Amino acid sequence: MSQRIVILGSGESGTGAALLAKQKGFDVFVSDKGSIAQKYKDELLEMGVAFEEGMHTEELILNATEVIKSPGIPEKNDLVKAIRKAGIPIINELEFAARYTSAYKICITGTNGKTTTTSLVYHLLQKAGLNVAVAGNIGISMCRMVATGSYEYYVLEISSFQLDDMYDFKADMAIICNITPDHLDRYEYELQNYVKSKFRITRNQDEKCLLVYCADDELTINNLSLIEGNAKRLPFSHDVETIPGAYIKDQQIVINLNENQSNQFTMYTSELTLRGRHNAYNSMAAAIIANALEIRKDVIREGLMDFQNVEHRLEYVATVRGVDFINDSKATNVNSAWYALESMDKPVIWVVGGVDKGNDYNMLKELVKSKVRIIVCLGVDNARIHEAFSTDVDMILNTSSAQEAVHVAAKMSKPGETVLLSPACASFDLFKNYEDRGRQFKAAVRSL
Ligand code: ADP
Repeated sequence: MSQRIVILGSGESGTGAALLAKQKGFDVFVSDKGSIAQKYKDELLEMGVAFEEGMHTEELILNATEVIKSPGIPEKNDLVKAIRKAGIPIINELEFAARYTSAYKICITGTNGKTTTTSLVYHLLQKAGLNVAVAGNIGISMCRMVATGSYEYYVLEISSFQLDDMYDFKADMAIICNITPDHLDRYEYELQNYVKSKFRITRNQDEKCLLVYCADDELTINNLSLIEGNAKRLPFSHDVETIPGAYIKDQQIVINLNENQSNQFTMYTSELTLRGRHNAYNSMAAAIIANALEIRKDVIREGLMDFQNVEHRLEYVATVRGVDFINDSKATNVNSAWYALESMDKPVIWVVGGVDKGNDYNMLKELVKSKVRIIVCLGVDNARIHEAFSTDVDMILNTSSAQEAVHVAAKMSKPGETVLLSPACASFDLFKNYEDRGRQFKAAVRSL
């Protein structure tokens, strides 16, 4: 009898996994407790893959040889517990995909900056003419790309939830952008569990592999002992000259792949298309990878100059009556909002709020005091924002829609100021997701 692969969750990752598993001749079954989006249902029907939605039928699941689980399903889920009890291995779609390709894998994880850095690395490799695909947490299933294409390089964004279900996968090159507290509800509220999860990206790395990380990031540096394997380490830093590695000196990025500083790469930070300290980190990380892949320096330089940032990340929307509007809806935690505020050089009307995941606002207080004049709350419950900042700004106002927030912010702002949507919170109290929040914000700005 053929081996049975059961796939839990039928979003992009599940449907991609079904496609590859079917192609490889497995008996495939997809089960989703919620409803399956029509486009994925059509795909499953077309492939002739059996599926169910709105329920999980244990008899059809506990007979699996292996289960591929969507990263959105937590370990404490009853079905997952039953699968564990039955001793059936659970993996995720990246682990599965990697079995069927010998392509070179460049893998990016971290709390913030994954999508930006992944897109930037992809951009540089594409510019260099390499046969490259981008996939993973960025929203494209790696299984789908393996099933439908033939690539020599994969640039993969990998979340901690994905890393948790990866075992034999090897990252030829890995970037850990940074580690700050997030998603602790999935890690028994133990920060160390989350940190360990990020370091899983170094599993199976050998001396031919590369590990790129931020030398200014406290949690990363304090946990270097969690690195598995013996990849070559290339840290990047704003503050210290790391050789080999990358650093910033006299407004220039300097990259050395070796101790002897031969073949050094330099570039003025003013030439980078991505602005702000956090993006200098992302640019350094991506440039290390590109240099290590021996991409021509002028190609790297040009790529760092013409990269178009992804939507909802410090995205400039418009200037209305002298006021700049910036959409940073993707800032769903305190750390990313910190970097957004830090990169502001005009007085800020800060639009913040939503679903608070246990935020510690203390780390923002100094920046808020020095940069923010007015806070516009955009959320159902704004009590914690009032508590945290009532003594730091001139005024805190409550709003409950993107349109209202934009109108209030526009009314209260003066020419020469910036209205920044950087919510530090998840969006699902008022919006479908952060994209919906960002798009509604932009639409409201454009109709001012
Ligand atoms: P992720 O994919 O890890 O969520 P994104 O690239 O989508 O990261 O960026 C998410 C948010 O974090 C955005 O608001 C962005 O401006 C901010 N950000 C980007 N890079 C960094 C970084 N290196 N450190 C901190 N914040 C960052």
